[in-house]
Amino acid sequence: MTPSPLLQLLTERLRDAPFHIGQIAVSPLTGEGIELRHRDDAGLAADGLETFDRPDDARDIAQYDAAGEYRPLKGSPDLKRGWRLVLAGPGEVRTALDLFYPAALALWAACSGNRMRVVPLARTLERQTGMYRFARNISPEGAADLMRRRCLTGCSRHPLWAESQNPAVPSHGIPLLCPEACSFFVAEARVVAKAEFDAKAAPQPATGN
Ligand code: SF4
Repeated sequence: MTPSPLLQLLTERLRDAPFHIGQIAVSPLTGEGIELRHRDDAGLAADGLETFDRPDDARDIAQYDAAGEYRPLKGSPDLKRGWRLVLAGPGEVRTALDLFYPAALALWAACSGNRMRVVPLARTLERQTGMYRFARNISPEGAADLMRRRCLTGCSRHPLWAESQNPAVPSHGIPLLCPEACSFFVAEARVVAKAEFDAKAAPQPATGN
């Protein structure tokens, strides 16, 4: 069976390994196999790390941070250290990376083929329903500040949607791309919009006479 275009792309990229994706270093092993480990563990001896060998083990590794807290946002830059995942080939690497960083490979392939569709924040907010509709009231300044806090320092993904024209795609490793604000961002945008609304509605202090 012919491998999918995405698997072909990943197979080609693996020929140029080592590389990194998010917080993960991907390296070929001497002999056979491909190893994934935390980038900050790059210089550690293999026998100092806990070894896993099933692609699905990525799910457990990615689930909690080092303090045992659940990681709802998989792009959050708090992937725990101390493990290595030894895999047999591109298919297994694809499965594991899809668990570490959902949709990241598909977005990379779309970007590589000029098929990336970036959705501006205004359109994402316009589509919100129910209690999240209020998020559309966030000011441009509030949105920019939230983007800096939530995306630039709280996430490993690159928020293409925040760049008005010709988004710059990082060229090193496999980039973690974000073409549309995620549900975490929208939920926080609602909180910021409400705070902005309350601040405007609050009585202004008397200026004296
Ligand atoms: S919107 Fe921001 S926090 Fe959400 S996935 Fe994209 S970059 Fe990460």
